[in-house]
This record gives sequence, C-alpha cells and structure tokens, in this order.
Amino acid sequence: MFGFGAKNIGIDLGTANTIVYSEGKGIVLREPSVVAKNTKTDEIVSVGSEARAMIGRTPASIVAIRPMKDGVIADYDTTVSMMKYYIEKSLEPHSGRPDVMVCVPSGVTEVEKRAVIDATKVAGAKDAYVIEEPFAAAIGAGLPVMDPTGSMVVDIGGGTTDVATISLGGIVSSRSIRMAGDKLDEAIIAYVRSHYNLLIGERTAEQLKIDVASASVEAAKELESQSVRGRDLVTGLPQTVEIKPEDVATAIQEVVQAIITAIKETLEETSPEIAADVIDHGIVLTGGGAQLRHLPEVISEATKVPVFVASEPLDCVAIGTGESLKNIDVMK
Ligand code: ADP
Ligand code: MG
Repeated sequence: MFGFGAKNIGIDLGTANTIVYSEGKGIVLREPSVVAKNTKTDEIVSVGSEARAMIGRTPASIVAIRPMKDGVIADYDTTVSMMKYYIEKSLEPHSGRPDVMVCVPSGVTEVEKRAVIDATKVAGAKDAYVIEEPFAAAIGAGLPVMDPTGSMVVDIGGGTTDVATISLGGIVSSRSIRMAGDKLDEAIIAYVRSHYNLLIGERTAEQLKIDVASASVEAAKELESQSVRGRDLVTGLPQTVEIKPEDVATAIQEVVQAIITAIKETLEETSPEIAADVIDHGIVLTGGGAQLRHLPEVISEATKVPVFVASEPLDCVAIGTGESLKNIDVMK
C-alpha cells in the first residue's frame, strides 16, 4: 500500500446518528441523521445537529427529514446528500475517493442492502462494502467474535433493536425488531397525552426519556419528577406539567418487554453450547438505548443471564465497522 489516496472509512449509518470512523484515526464525526430541506427549491438548508434542532420547529418552507427509518433507507436522495456531506467532511483535503464500509441491520433484504451500497457509491465512495450491524457492534464492544465461544450482543438504536449470538466470526442466530429508541419516545408522547392531557413534541419526549425513563417501574419511584412543557389539550395553550418517572416507566413497558422477548427468542434458538457460553460471559448491550436506566437489571432478571453495557455504547458499531476495514482486501 502506498501513502497516497484517501484513508478508507467506516460509516455507522444509523436511524438516529451517523458516525464515521477513519482508518488509522478512529472516530472523526458524530452527527444526527437529519437533513433540513427547503420544500420549494429542494435545496439542503442544513445537515446534522443544526437540522436536528429544527425538528418540530420548521416554517412551512423548510422540512427536517430523518432519511433513515427502522434501520434502512427511507428517503434515498436525502440519504445520498447526507452521506456525501459527511464523507467529504471526514476526508482530508485533496484526498481521493475512499473505500467505504457501511453497516446494515441483520435481516435486511438484498434490495435494502443494494440501496445502501448504491447510495454510498453515489455519495463518493470508490467502492462500498456492508457489514452486519450486530457483528460490528460485537467487535466494537470488544467481544471475542472470532473465537469458538458464543457471545451475545443487543444493539438498541433509534429504529431497531438487533439481537445476535456470534461465534467463530459469524452470526449464529439473530433478531431485528422495530422497537427501539423512537418507539420509546412515541410511547412517552402517547402516555403523556392520555394521562396528563398534554401534547409534547418528539424532542421533548426524547429528553424526558434521557432524563428520567427507567426500564423498571419499581425503581423509577426513587427518581424525581420532571417538569415538561407542551400544549394543554383542553385549553390549547402552552403548559408546564410535572411528570412522574414511574409514569414514564409504565409508558415504555411494552417496548421494554418486546426487547426482552426478542432476546429470549434468540437465546432459545441457539445451541446448548452457545447458550452456556452466554450464561458464562453475559449479554452485552450497545447503542444509545443501552443507556436506559435499569435496563441491564431488568433484562438480567428476565433471562437469568448477567447483562453489561459496553463502554461507549453509542460508538461500538462505528468502531467495529472501522476495524473491519482491515478485511476490505479480503472482501475484494
Ligand atoms: P442508531 O444506531 O439507530 O442511529 P444510536 O445507537 O445512535 O441509534 O442511539 C440513538 C437512540 O438512543 C435514540 O433513540 C436516543 O434517544 C437513545 N438514547 C441516547 N441516550 C440515551 C439515554 N441516556 N437513555 C435512553 N436512550 C438514549
Ligand atoms: Mg446503530
């Protein structure tokens, strides 16, 4: 290899966040997967955090788009624009086109995979490769994925929760469910609306989740109430309401239980040897949703397996995707 040309990059193209890893450097970019567009001219107004701040606050002429939904591309053109912007931002000036590794959720269709590869090339990659997200998450979490021992990783992102057992460099069994961070936010919005007569926005619900949500209704009783602003459904006027953490915990129970069910089903499908390995080493949680309060305890209680949160859970997939760039020559 010669020192010219671009450094290869790995991209975690997530429903909530896009993270870029540059070979030899590590993570060089972390931005929300959001693009703001002018609805009349179709021009891009802003990308990333600036666009995210506009969600729920746009005038008629601007729309804030999240081009990824449930882990896959929902708006192809906007995804390309966003990736183009992030790829350019991650490269050194005057470097050539990089080879790019992008992760996709396990269980995506060939068509969805193809769309990611095409979008990445149109966005500026010389060549594009995909890696399955739970596999990348496991590498990023430091699990011994190549060893003849079973590991289990649960990646809870914005759109999907991906559960997988991994051994000898491959995924043994996996589940991908469309129940993750966004569904937690939606459940909170619905609950606050029906129990407090208050209409709150997506961003407010997410903040409430980060501030007080707990996977355990019992444990939530120890947390302090949170005041939240929204619109009173009766008067139609702005209103501040104190929300009890146990209510937030109750609101999200269904999503938490769906995640637990997916974990149990994946465990039931594995061989007794791998199940035994998982009991020994525990389940590792990655993704932003892994930071939900008391989630490890609740999963552990339901599965009778120890559960840990990876260090830097939000970065695991990007790190694993970046590390697997080493194998690009093999994949070629
Ligand atoms: P994706 O890979 O889908 O882009 P991420 O792994 O970046 O998703 O995680 C984003 C999700 O994590 C969002 O739904 C966000 O609200 C959620 N999240 C971030 N921090 C926390 C937290 N402290 N508690 C619970 N959820 C969180
Ligand atoms: Mg992710």
